[in-house]
Amino acid sequence: MAVLPDPTSSPALKEHLLHFYESDVSLLDAMSAFIGAGLRASETCFLFATQAHHESLQERLKENGIDVLAAQERGEYRWFDAAEMLSKLMLDDMPESERFAREVGDLIAQATSGQRHVRIFGEMVALLWEQGNFNAVTRLEELWNDLYHRLNAFSLFCAYPMHSFSGQAHAAQFLEIIRLHSHLIPAGVSSLLIDPDEQLQAIALLQRKTYSLEAEIEQREEVEQRLRVSEEALYRLAAIVESSDDAIVSKTLDGIITSWNASAERLFGYSAEEAVGRHITLIIPPELYPEEDEILRKLRQGERIKHYETVRVRKDGRRVDVSLSISPVKDRNGKIIGGSKIARDIGERRELERRKDEFIAMASHELKTPVTSLKGFTQLLQRRLRNSGNEEELRFLTRMDAQVNRLTHLVDDLLNLTKMQTGKLEYRMEAFDLAELVQEIVENVQEATQTHRLLLEKTVVASVYGDRDRIGQVLTNLLTNAIKYSKDADRVIIRMEVSEGNVIVSVQDFGIGIPQEYQQRIFERFFRVSETGGTTYSGLGIGLYISRNIIKRHQGKLGVQSRKGEGSTFFFQLPLAQTADVRVEEGD
Ligand code: ADP
Repeated sequence: MAVLPDPTSSPALKEHLLHFYESDVSLLDAMSAFIGAGLRASETCFLFATQAHHESLQERLKENGIDVLAAQERGEYRWFDAAEMLSKLMLDDMPESERFAREVGDLIAQATSGQRHVRIFGEMVALLWEQGNFNAVTRLEELWNDLYHRLNAFSLFCAYPMHSFSGQAHAAQFLEIIRLHSHLIPAGVSSLLIDPDEQLQAIALLQRKTYSLEAEIEQREEVEQRLRVSEEALYRLAAIVESSDDAIVSKTLDGIITSWNASAERLFGYSAEEAVGRHITLIIPPELYPEEDEILRKLRQGERIKHYETVRVRKDGRRVDVSLSISPVKDRNGKIIGGSKIARDIGERRELERRKDEFIAMASHELKTPVTSLKGFTQLLQRRLRNSGNEEELRFLTRMDAQVNRLTHLVDDLLNLTKMQTGKLEYRMEAFDLAELVQEIVENVQEATQTHRLLLEKTVVASVYGDRDRIGQVLTNLLTNAIKYSKDADRVIIRMEVSEGNVIVSVQDFGIGIPQEYQQRIFERFFRVSETGGTTYSGLGIGLYISRNIIKRHQGKLGVQSRKGEGSTFFFQLPLAQTADVRVEEGD
């Protein structure tokens, strides 16, 4: 689209002009300039206009010294009532091409025959626009354009009242109309008559308006595109939530259920219709209501809860074991408005665990008797061989005895684990001297190892109240681990110290160390670090689990400080029985 300087000046000018007029006066200025120039050049002029515009134009032309009646008689001024002509062109609310060709096309073709130039003023499109039939407007403009390209012998001037375009709402149509024309004649100025400089200014203004409109449209299209993308993402997300195998439920900060997916229906037995709008206590066993208060409190503080294992209750009253992960839901301003929770049915896992525990209990129980009997016969044989002085057999038997001891430890660990699970592990509580016990255990373990020196660097004579054998078991476990996981080192350091009413025993090795991410997990049942630099270490992964439980039963703590590749320091802390009876002794 370009803008013409003055389309009235050249009689041979062939254009499809567009004019948005703000008042009838400005329209008449433009019409009389366009048609007047045609009549003066003896061109045929067609008017598809309203009766009122036709009459006003006649008067204006007369004022300008043009004999309209004579022109009419010569067939050079031909008026057609716009509404009437339009009604002949329309079929089902759309201008129809054959009718257009018959009613308008033939007429214009005749007038242009012999390469005579013709001028046409039309406002049928303006009538269609005012009726709100935008599709018909573009169709009619296209029909005019086709004719225009076919005959290539007329100028066509279309006029639209500016007031019927209400800014932003019609911006896209406005631009489309402009696109359908070859030139735009600015509105609001008697554009065809005034000074060219002013015209240029007006044109520039209009172009600026057009550009800003185009930019707005682009922006709007971009926003719409983004909205479409977000909408698609939402649909996709909704589909994922709906098809998830986990129950996904969201609720407000007051605990009112706001969404409930298909898996929630399967797991808890309530349909979405039954659950949404109800309070979340619908699925919480009454004795666990305080737990929900705590969950809501954490949500309000923006905290997440991960893999929390608990129990929920189904519609039929059955209990289900679930693992919950709960995250706060925020609105667009970051304000917490509720929570969404994923509940995984862990009933099957729990059942498997139960069967595994049962198996371990049974197997270790069954193993205990033959291992005890092996131990008894080994000792008996050892005595006999010692008496008969049979040194070589005795050496073999001693090695066999060491293996039987390992086996006994393993079976004992498994039995202890089972008892711990069922709460049947017995403790014989008494006050005893921890330093003495540490000394004794260090000596025992040293006796069985040739590879490492166990250095008891510092002892504290301190009395603790607890099960001496079980505390001994913990220290034995820490020492054997320290030796086992430091194959390239030759020493282990043991220290005791007292701090704030507690006694702390630490065991430091210079071995493979434990990567940071596993330093808590090694205390879990059956957990073993797999990254051990290619070396395989024997073990079941239950020693530390049992040890931590034993120390917990004594109101103490078991922990570790370690760096991968540099070694580890395991320590346990127990409350002192009598803080008065403390004496520090330095070791070698
Ligand atoms: P295990 O029978 O496997 O030694 P534990 O429960 O005693 O079982 O230890 C659990 C895991 O912790 C071990 O498998 C090992 O990966 C790691 N671990 C324990 N002690 C040490 C240590 N002193 N140095 C390095 N890793 C250790």
